[in-house]
Amino acid sequence: MDRTLLHADLDCFYAAVEALDDPSLRGRPLVVGGAPDARGVVASCSYEARRHGVRSAMPMSEALRRCPQAVRRPPRFERYHALSRQVFAILGDFSPEVEPLSLDEAFLDVTGSERLLGPGEAIARAIRARVQAEAGLTISVGVAACRHVAKIASDLCKPDGLLVVPREPAALAAFLAPLPIERLPGVGPVTGPRLRALGFATLGALAAAPPDEVEARLGPGGLAWRAMAAGLEPTGAGRAGRRSRSLSHETTFARDLRDREALRRVVGQLSDEVGARARAEGFSGRTVQVKVRWPDFRTITRSRTLPEPTQATEAIFRTAWGLVDEHVAPGAAVRLVGVALQQEGPERPAQRLLFEEGPGGAPLAATAGDPGRLDRAMDAIRARLGPEAIRRARDLDPDAPLARAWED
Ligand SMILES: [Mg+2]
Repeated sequence: MDRTLLHADLDCFYAAVEALDDPSLRGRPLVVGGAPDARGVVASCSYEARRHGVRSAMPMSEALRRCPQAVRRPPRFERYHALSRQVFAILGDFSPEVEPLSLDEAFLDVTGSERLLGPGEAIARAIRARVQAEAGLTISVGVAACRHVAKIASDLCKPDGLLVVPREPAALAAFLAPLPIERLPGVGPVTGPRLRALGFATLGALAAAPPDEVEARLGPGGLAWRAMAAGLEPTGAGRAGRRSRSLSHETTFARDLRDREALRRVVGQLSDEVGARARAEGFSGRTVQVKVRWPDFRTITRSRTLPEPTQATEAIFRTAWGLVDEHVAPGAAVRLVGVALQQEGPERPAQRLLFEEGPGGAPLAATAGDPGRLDRAMDAIRARLGPEAIRRARDLDPDAPLARAWED
């Protein structure tokens, strides 16, 4: 069935609230976040500040270096929560299916509302007018036949915009094809350069590549990227004739890696990326697979099937690290490591798993449930600030400059 999805996203929400409550701030470069001497970071910034190169998640000291005339305000989350509730109440008047991504951003499935309220575009106009009139804020809305295209649209039309992406295949392809690959939700500063290096600089380049080639270069998860680049739901597309779906991430090291702790951190990061994508795409998998390539290019894959499907980072990590720890001898050099989550297990699940224990003695079965609060909190932050915005401390190299805690 043809669906109509809206992605509604308040424009620089925290900064807009500060300017709403203090009109003297309007039209000025404004940053919301912690103090620079307390290693604060930018939680939100006005478009005037963005013109000077200020971005969300940037250290406050850097933001004020780039834009010394900016006014800084500490965040007032209670106020933001109150306005967020007001906006979500408005959204709820337009569809029973509102899926919040964070305080200021939501998907709305308005397929069932269109008969009553008119086409998606009319609903988007009405939402924008009511949010402006009742909350005093501008909200940008993208309209499309699936989630990620609606999000691309709202990102493109910001601020105070409305963009409807046609659903006819030719017009949809013409809209998506020229967009830089970084426009694809989930493609961050790590994945973007990797996709570019493989020749996929635009959505069109990735969408047009033969599936076999995409899978060979990007792994099985590459087919989901390809489907998204073509404007198709990643869960439904590229799956015809395939028994099982799989999400995977892998890393090739610039220099062969012997450091066990560093290897564990990378497995942690990859597990986290796989878990986050699984949750974003509503995908659960029963089998965790790891791939290890040695300096001489010999490659092994090892997998373990869980008693029940999961999308929790912790369950993926414990299983993946258990496999890597088991199969990589201490001190051995590793060229590449990968983590995958697969939908189906083998025909006969590995029964032995039920009696195995995870690291630390916890039964693996106990770790294989729903994603926890930490996963959900991290997903919400990433929805706002991008997939690279937050990491578990476990996955950070204590010596790398990246090891900075997110603080508001
Ligand atoms: Mg926003």
